[in-house]
Order: sequence, then C-alpha cells, then structure tokens
Amino acid sequence: MEIFDTHTHLNDAPFANRLAEEIGKAQEFGVTKINNVGSNMKLNQLAVSISEQFEPCYATIGWHPDDAGEFDEKSEVYLLSELTKPKVLAVGEIGLDYHWMVQPKEVQERVFRRQIQISKEMNVPFQVHTRDALEDTYKIIKDEGVGPAGAIMHSFSGSLSDAERFAALGMMISFSGVVTFKKALDEQNAAQHLPMDKILVETDAPYLTPVPFRGRENTPVYTQFVVEKIAELRGMSKEDVAEQTYQNALAIFKKVQK
Ligand SMILES: [Zn+2]
Repeated sequence: MEIFDTHTHLNDAPFANRLAEEIGKAQEFGVTKINNVGSNMKLNQLAVSISEQFEPCYATIGWHPDDAGEFDEKSEVYLLSELTKPKVLAVGEIGLDYHWMVQPKEVQERVFRRQIQISKEMNVPFQVHTRDALEDTYKIIKDEGVGPAGAIMHSFSGSLSDAERFAALGMMISFSGVVTFKKALDEQNAAQHLPMDKILVETDAPYLTPVPFRGRENTPVYTQFVVEKIAELRGMSKEDVAEQTYQNALAIFKKVQK
C-alpha cells in the first residue's frame, strides 16, 4: 500500500531536528510520497531544500493569504525560476483567509489572482487555502479559470454541494484529518459521495491531527487515518482508497515519477 500525503509541512519548525526520523516513520506506514507546502519565502525555500535532500519529498511553493503582504516582484521571480525544478510540483498554498484577516481583502485577492496566473503560465496546479471565504474563493477561481494542469482545494471544509461546485471548475478535493472529526458531518458526506477520481488525502501536519490522535501533534504518518475514514465512509478497503488517491495525486502532480 502506498499513500500520497499531498499537503503537509515538514518545513515547519516542530520537525526541524527530526526530518529523517519523520520521513522514515511515514514510509514505514506506507506514506511514500510527501508534498511539503510553503507559505512565505522562508518556508518555500525550506520545502524546496527538503525535496532536494529526501527522496520521498516534493515541494509546493507560494504565498499564503496571511503572508500576502510580503509578495512582491522578487517573489514572482522566485516562483518562476523554482517552478522549473523537477520536484517543485505546484503553487500553494494560496487563497483567502477571512478568519484571521491578517492582510486586507484587497491584498489577499490580488496576490491570490496573480499566483493562479503564474501557476497557469508555468503549467502546474495550484493548491488553495480558504477559510471563512468560500464564496469569494469560488468567484475568483471561476473568474481566473483552472488551467489544464488543474487545481486542488486543500483540507476541504464544506458541504458536498460546495465540493461539487469546485470539482466542476476542474479541481480535486483534498481531505485532511478534519474528515475524521465527530462533528464533521458535511465533510464526511462530501468524502462519501464525491466521484472517487476527484479525491486526494493529506495531513496538513503539524495541524489538524486526525482521530484517534486529535489534540497531539500531527505527522504525515497519520495520513493513514484519513484514508481509513474515507474507506469506512465509502464501504471500500483501505488499500483501494490508498491506491485510488495515490493515482489521483500522480494524475495531477505530473512531475512525480511512479
Ligand atoms: Zn497547510
């Protein structure tokens, strides 16, 4: 069984001194591909350097809405050059965050749109973060358009009909540990009924630890619990969900060798 953790943050501080250990543990549990996602210059650079040091690791680079204020011409030049690297898969995480509203809406929107455009120019997918901003996120993606390289809603939070609207734009829907939470009935319903070829799995570690370890620090190892929950919801085997979501990840992340 092979599992693809399509969105995580081994480039984040808690993992700094035990990268080899975490990656080794993940592999032991079948998590053989790990996509580390950046959110600002420092974390993007770390994600790329981890992808160069560790065979199972890949990188996704971009400016998170909270960090949209630092996005400038230098960031654009950086994206354009780094996205040509063989293990740099996508632009992300980009989007809108109206929950924390660290940056004004106008700044978030401008930087989100610009990075969608860059991902399409570079023919790579983009990975979207959205919080308390589903409607505006939808409008912007619809307006900019999803290119042939596709796009991903990361750690999807919303109803089945929300998920279907994004899928209809040409996007894949990625489920995190949220889908294992007792009260996440909407997300569970979405994970149960979306077409199987639209679904990805992720941890978003160190955040959003799945049941049964909720409350502790998350790690890519726990992608298995997301797979297990989706298998339970759909009446499928864990192996089949792992395999299908792995194939879906290969379909969107075209740079990844089998
Ligand atoms: Zn994330």
